[in-house]
Amino acid sequence: IVTAEPSRTEKIEDSSSKIGTELLCVVRAVLKKIKRRVLVGDKVVVGSVDWVDRRGMIENVFQRTSEILDPPVANVDHLLVLFSLEQPRLEPFVLTRFLIEAESTGIPLTLALNKVELVDREMLSDWNIRLRSWGYEPLFCSVDSKMGLDTLASVLRDQTTVIVGPSGVGKSSLINVLRNKPNSHGEADNWFDPIMGSKWFEDQRVGEVSTRSGRGKHTTRNVSLLPLGEGGYLADTPGFSQPSLLKVTKQSLAQYFPEIRQMLIDNEPAKCAFNDCLHVGEPGCIVKGDWERYPLYFQLLDEIRIREEFQLRTF
Ligand code: GDP
Ligand code: ZN
Repeated sequence: IVTAEPSRTEKIEDSSSKIGTELLCVVRAVLKKIKRRVLVGDKVVVGSVDWVDRRGMIENVFQRTSEILDPPVANVDHLLVLFSLEQPRLEPFVLTRFLIEAESTGIPLTLALNKVELVDREMLSDWNIRLRSWGYEPLFCSVDSKMGLDTLASVLRDQTTVIVGPSGVGKSSLINVLRNKPNSHGEADNWFDPIMGSKWFEDQRVGEVSTRSGRGKHTTRNVSLLPLGEGGYLADTPGFSQPSLLKVTKQSLAQYFPEIRQMLIDNEPAKCAFNDCLHVGEPGCIVKGDWERYPLYFQLLDEIRIREEFQLRTF
């Protein structure tokens, strides 16, 4: 949304010649004063626009639907959790940690497994069955041999996505092929901007919005949203490569396991006897222990318990 004058609000969508125009903006001092950071992905009100020099001032920031910190992006509506089957080999505990971290953001996620060409059919089918029993419907792909990329692209359509996963699984490679992927009309040149007259990403230094990540004084991470050919955006920087699980509490952990969520739904209206049941064998607990990741649930619960006790002692 752009305000031409303070008294008049002009929706940029209504003014076709201005759609897609990039404006180099400064943030209004009052926003800085009240510590409202502007993040990549924010929807903002821009005023004092100079359409010739393409400059403006950010006057306000709309309420965010979501916000992630690593990388700092607002209004993310989809996480793509990417792992590889081999090189590095898929490790159930590492995958679980990433899934829990992703689930704890509340943002819908898709699980994709890369490098399928490195394993045989049997292995694929085994993982498929296994991950379905965890409550996920994995997509299989290979960035190298271009398998499954159309399906992935269709999952990303019309959403703002951040790719997360451990290092070496192919996140950067996937971002690269998606940014160069032709759209369904066969146009590889899908970032041609009719107004700027250049490929968006080649020219992005001009309009790039960069922010400082909250992780430390010396780490600055730049992140840009790449517009996808079929609609939607993809963050050009992968997200949390080390899930800290810092926002996950003992009490909230269970809700991030689809298996437990499902068992609780299946048993409705029956409930665990204790409201704060951790499902670790309390009397009257309705969550059974006959599922693959139950030991991993225990292990994570322990880790969180130790962290919470340590925090209690420290503060
Ligand atoms: P990131 O750390 O997750 O960003 O991973 P990279 O994109 O840097 O990829 C790590 C390595 O995996 C690189 O050598 C890639 O060429 C390789 N790679 C990516 N996708 C595939 C794939 O589908 N199959 C195989 N065999 N290698 C891949
Ligand atoms: Zn219980």
